[in-house]
Amino acid sequence: EAKDLGRNRVCLFSKKRQAIVDRTTAMAYDLKKALARNEFSLYLQPQIMGTGNVCSAEALLRWIPAGKQPVSPGLFIPIAEETGLILPLGEWVLTNACQLLVKLQECRNLPTGFTLAVNISARQFSDDHFLEKVKAIISSSGIDPRRLKFELTETCLLHDLDSGRATLESLQQMGIHIELDDFGTGYSSLNMLKNLPINTLKIDQSLIHGIETGSQGKTLVRAAIAMARAMSMTVIAEGVETERQESFLVEEGCDIMQGFRYARPMPLPDFTAYLNENTRPGSKGEKPRLIVLEAR
Ligand code: C2E
Ligand code: MG
Ligand code: MG
Ligand code: MG
Repeated sequence: EAKDLGRNRVCLFSKKRQAIVDRTTAMAYDLKKALARNEFSLYLQPQIMGTGNVCSAEALLRWIPAGKQPVSPGLFIPIAEETGLILPLGEWVLTNACQLLVKLQECRNLPTGFTLAVNISARQFSDDHFLEKVKAIISSSGIDPRRLKFELTETCLLHDLDSGRATLESLQQMGIHIELDDFGTGYSSLNMLKNLPINTLKIDQSLIHGIETGSQGKTLVRAAIAMARAMSMTVIAEGVETERQESFLVEEGCDIMQGFRYARPMPLPDFTAYLNENTRPGSKGEKPRLIVLEAR
């Protein structure tokens, strides 16, 4: 009897696993057609300085399959990476981010020195044609590359540190600002970081949410900010949701904040409306403490 039960269990388990595999395959299939069907769009989430003024934004990819609910990037980005679709999709993202910048430049309340952050996946970053593609997309859009920030994670860099460093240096030479995303969740050592041309550390939201859950959480964030300072990097906090998190971060000298406390990611028309409502007279020219437009 016990044996039967065991067998049923195994059977149930593999059925469950098969269902997951099937769903992933179906999503990969839909994802492949989604580009041609124009089902992707970029949302913008503002980034705010300690003074309360907007200085930049992050472009976040959205996939809304026709007649269906939006699919979370947390679900489809890994599948796009596995299937290689991230390469054409990543090009689409950068092309559209540049077009958004062109449109934003027409907005009369765009802060001086405004920059737009674009997420770059590991597979994209290590592709042999990555730099070439970036140059082509930027030059055909006509935007100033100093308006772009690339958000990379540690996985982009771990696999080949030397070629990774060379790619980062080329991007910086073009004027693109380099940010390390999800900082505090990976394995980066101080030694690795100090030898890489990175302009900004973006502290992961899990650390930010820890600010309110005890003194240890505060200590960690304080240490992350101090580390960035010691390496002359700008610090961004992501996932800021509450006033208590904000006031702690401002007090500790965090340069830039991003999170639901200020605004959720939104389509371009909403974002320009947000800029028009949130730009106080005379604040347009204010820049972050460390000037974002200058490559290190
Ligand atoms: P990420 O780059 O770390 O982006 C931050 C995520 O946190 C976004 O989720 C954003 O909507 C969410 N967020 C912002 N503020 C808050 C907050 O106050 N509270 C909470 N709980 N969440 C907040 P999203 O848009 O679902 O994206 C998830 C991940 O998918 C991103 O993490 C990034 O790794 C990836 N992703 C998104 N767009 C792109 C893209 O265009 N290209 C690539 N390669 N990856 C992307
Ligand atoms: Mg990001
Ligand atoms: Mg992040
Ligand atoms: Mg993340």
